[in-house]
Amino acid sequence: MTTTEADAKQDVDSTQDVCIVGAGPAGLTAGLFTARAGLETLIVNAGEPILRRNAHLENVPGFPAGVNSRLFLDMLSDQVERNGGKLTEVEVTNVTKSEDGQFAVMTADERAIQSDYVICASWAESNYVADIDEIGLMKRGSKTYIDANDDGETGVDGLYVTGRLAGEPHQTVVASGHGAKVALSVIHDSDVPFYNDWVAPEGYFTGRGREVPPGCEEIDEEERQRREQQSLKVMQEYFESPHPESPTQHPSVREE
Ligand SMILES: Cc1cc2nc3c(=O)[nH]c(=O)nc-3n(C[C@H](O)[C@H](O)[C@H](O)COP(=O)(O)OP(=O)(O)OC[C@H]3O[C@@H](n4cnc5c(N)ncnc54)[C@H](O)[C@@H]3O)c2cc1C
Repeated sequence: MTTTEADAKQDVDSTQDVCIVGAGPAGLTAGLFTARAGLETLIVNAGEPILRRNAHLENVPGFPAGVNSRLFLDMLSDQVERNGGKLTEVEVTNVTKSEDGQFAVMTADERAIQSDYVICASWAESNYVADIDEIGLMKRGSKTYIDANDDGETGVDGLYVTGRLAGEPHQTVVASGHGAKVALSVIHDSDVPFYNDWVAPEGYFTGRGREVPPGCEEIDEEERQRREQQSLKVMQEYFESPHPESPTQHPSVREE
């Protein structure tokens, strides 16, 4: 996906504030929020987000004529990295929690990633948490979900779940929104000072004699224009030509 071989090697036995399993809309959005709040964030993904099967994404707010779902995922991954989050492509095989409260996230290439918080965003896959006794797994028909409250908190302190795996409806923007909500719950449970993730015009708080609250930023007009120019450039590049990859077909559909 995104991280080079060299970068991936650096993650061997790395310590993170937050480790997220799964880089679909839920995991990527959760990582965007935790990274922007200043938490060291690593998203570990193996395989394809189910959204790559979509033919044309027409119900995500902000794209009046829809958007190629693979482009949408590329842009979301880029956004995570621009905001300080890291991504690596490998399967998570097991997660355990030690007595000091730290999680060990084990990967198929035998990395051990230590983290204070784990967010499971792996759509339907939950086998890697099966060794944690306090976890509540719920079966509904052929599907398994991880039991959690509205904020994604499971029965295991520091372990969260989001997206489809949390029983959220099977829609992209719901998965993204839930990822953000669960990330906010992680941020509030951490020691990071945080009010809201807002970028406001200069004076919005200070003009009323207030401090800029933690997590918020005031920018002046020059900086606002610089960021707008940058966003125009980046979006023009992304929308210059069609995405090279086609939708992934359902595995049970036979090729002619
Ligand atoms: C054909 C099709 C069309 C769709 N069209 C639309 C649409 O038009 N509009 C809409 O709103 N929604 C659509 N959806 C639904 C949308 O794709 C999902 O709601 C959304 O992708 C769910 O997001 P998620 O982050 O929970 O899961 P996913 O996007 O599936 O992400 C989970 C990720 O976790 C990875 N993973 C799993 N196990 C592990 C592990 N052990 N270690 C590491 N990584 C792991 C998976 O490989 C995957 O990359 C469509 C779905 C399909 C199948």
